[in-house]
Amino acid sequence: MSRLAENYRGVLERIADAATRSGRKPGDVRLLGVTKRVPVPRILEAVSLGLRDFGENRVQEAEGKIPLVREPGVRWHFIGHLQSNKARRALDLFASIRTVDSLSLARRLNGMLHGPYAVFIEVRSGDEPTKSGVNELELEELVQFVRGTQYLRLEGFMAVPPYFENPEKVRPYFSRLRELAAEHGVPGLSIGMSHDFEIAIEEGATEVRIGTALFGERR
Ligand SMILES: *Cc1c(COP(=O)(O)O)cnc(C)c1O
Repeated sequence: MSRLAENYRGVLERIADAATRSGRKPGDVRLLGVTKRVPVPRILEAVSLGLRDFGENRVQEAEGKIPLVREPGVRWHFIGHLQSNKARRALDLFASIRTVDSLSLARRLNGMLHGPYAVFIEVRSGDEPTKSGVNELELEELVQFVRGTQYLRLEGFMAVPPYFENPEKVRPYFSRLRELAAEHGVPGLSIGMSHDFEIAIEEGATEVRIGTALFGERR
């Protein structure tokens, strides 16, 4: 078995265990493979193993890769900070944008669309000012705005909480995000990365975004 195959199997097992521990079904948690800086042949290998959802965080890098991985059933999701001048290109490449974080971006995306399109709102989690995402105080307004647009379909919240050496410390951030999703009646919750995805699942993740634990350390 290849390294990637082993990693993939291990991650699926850990997802299933965490889901079961928290009273859910393994199928309730989507695995999104994060392929930034992962070369196309390895992505194709992941597709052949059964992975279908992928995330990229840069439009320009994605433009060079996604056209080479157009396998049936494969979906690409944008998970980076989206500058409005790249909105058009992002819509052409991605099945969803997980990082809508402002009224102006939401308005711009909606204005370019001609049919329903899935989005997540990125919520700022933790208070480092450099982080992207909408803060809790502005969240309600953005939720209402997105729901009022003709084409955007609000499927969830996404967040990247602060990094802690000890992943247990991130648990309160995840549980707060779960509360926010419940308060706003939003079904999806994209939280959890390689070092903390089991805790994210215990706290209600419906999607985990995993790079390193699948593809190895990025160079
Ligand atoms: C890189 C990245 C991930 C995956 O991180 P790993 O720690 O490698 O699993 C998840 N989400 C976002 C937004 C990322 O940029």
